[in-house]
Amino acid sequence: MKISDEQYVESLYMEDDDLARVKAGLAAHGMPDISVHDGYGRLLTLLVAMSGASRLLEIGALGGYSGICLVRGLKGEGSLVSLELLPNYAEVAQAHMNAAGLGDKVTYIIGDAKESLTKLKEAGRTFDFFFIDADKEGYPVYLNEAIALAEPGAVIVGDNILLRGRTTNMDKQGPSVQAVRSFNEAIASDERLISTILPGYDGLAIAIVK
Ligand code: SAH
Ligand code: MG
Repeated sequence: MKISDEQYVESLYMEDDDLARVKAGLAAHGMPDISVHDGYGRLLTLLVAMSGASRLLEIGALGGYSGICLVRGLKGEGSLVSLELLPNYAEVAQAHMNAAGLGDKVTYIIGDAKESLTKLKEAGRTFDFFFIDADKEGYPVYLNEAIALAEPGAVIVGDNILLRGRTTNMDKQGPSVQAVRSFNEAIASDERLISTILPGYDGLAIAIVK
């Protein structure tokens, strides 16, 4: 019998109660389970821990799965600001963060992330870790805003940069696909960044701001 490489890797890890609760909560609330893949969730924890980041910004909260992974990487002081369009999603995410014992580490800002980012910039806020995972059409704007809010050395991560095969299918030319292609090109070529793009799962871009 042959299982997939991803299934094999998952089988090595114990069930994670806090993350399993998020998955169950998404189903119970009729929300889509488009949380970050388990392996990349673990990578988010590692990247936060390895970078020593303490001011985290997430764009797209859903049910709090990636929020839990990000906050788990914090050492001591530090917190997460999470931008989410839908108030009921932010409420579900907050409940899952609370249940994981991390509720006091996160602040949700409800509304279109583009407006929230402008307000954060006007307020002079800066961050040292960004997780971009909201509407794909917004990715190029989110990248520029992240660079504008970044402290030197800040980490920028972008999820789903392969769009389940659409990114590499040249018959697909819709606005999300085109936006993600420009995001990927910018990640790879912007001289302000050092980056890599991992093609596993649904693709993950990782960069630091020089
Ligand atoms: N990061 C989450 C998954 C996010 S799914 C995780 O891995 O657990 C994408 C989320 O982005 C959804 O919750 C959706 O409501 C939100 N979203 C979509 N468009 C948005 C926008 N313009 N501004 C802020 N959030 C948005
Ligand atoms: Mg995602």
